[in-house]
Amino acid sequence: MSSTQNSNQAVLILIKPDGLKKSLTGNILTRLSETKLEIVAAKMVRVSKKLAEEHYQHLKDKPFFQELIKYLQGELHDRKKVMALIYWGDDAIEKCRGLAGATNPEQADPTSIRGSYGRILTSGLFENVIHVSSNVSEAEREIKLWFSPAEIIVDLYPKKETVFKECKKQEWA
Ligand code: GDP
Repeated sequence: MSSTQNSNQAVLILIKPDGLKKSLTGNILTRLSETKLEIVAAKMVRVSKKLAEEHYQHLKDKPFFQELIKYLQGELHDRKKVMALIYWGDDAIEKCRGLAGATNPEQADPTSIRGSYGRILTSGLFENVIHVSSNVSEAEREIKLWFSPAEIIVDLYPKKETVFKECKKQEWA
């Protein structure tokens, strides 16, 4: 592919519970705006154990897995929510991962988001304030896990229509 060709990508960003507890949402979004990417979906999510375990399925054999699940669910920070966003545009994954910095906040570039705001707990857990999908296939898997098609304002992946009968739905009273 020539360097002048556009390679639009979608990437899942999570502002983790430590980022919310430290009131870093504005700072993180400001840093990400340097990418000039478009936000095509955003919401607050109360994270179930199932969602957290599916999100981090590639780490299920790691010794820190159970604590990582509690971390994403907000059990370590008294903030039982995360902010989930999808950024979309040219080279979105590389741009966002570059700004996020390395997984280990001590090794992250000090000017990166994780280098500026992350820390390692005495338990050894990397508290690194933000998640960014690692590649195109992980981004697709994660976006489909966290968002339904109707929550995203562009067409990212093929979708189908299903008619649900007698399904309960909340609406304004
Ligand atoms: P990421 O894509 O940079 O977030 O890296 P991974 O997918 O490998 O890890 C997911 C999350 O698990 C990280 O963001 C950290 O919160 C945590 N984590 C990853 N590696 C380690 C590790 O070696 N030790 C500890 N304690 N936590 C880790």
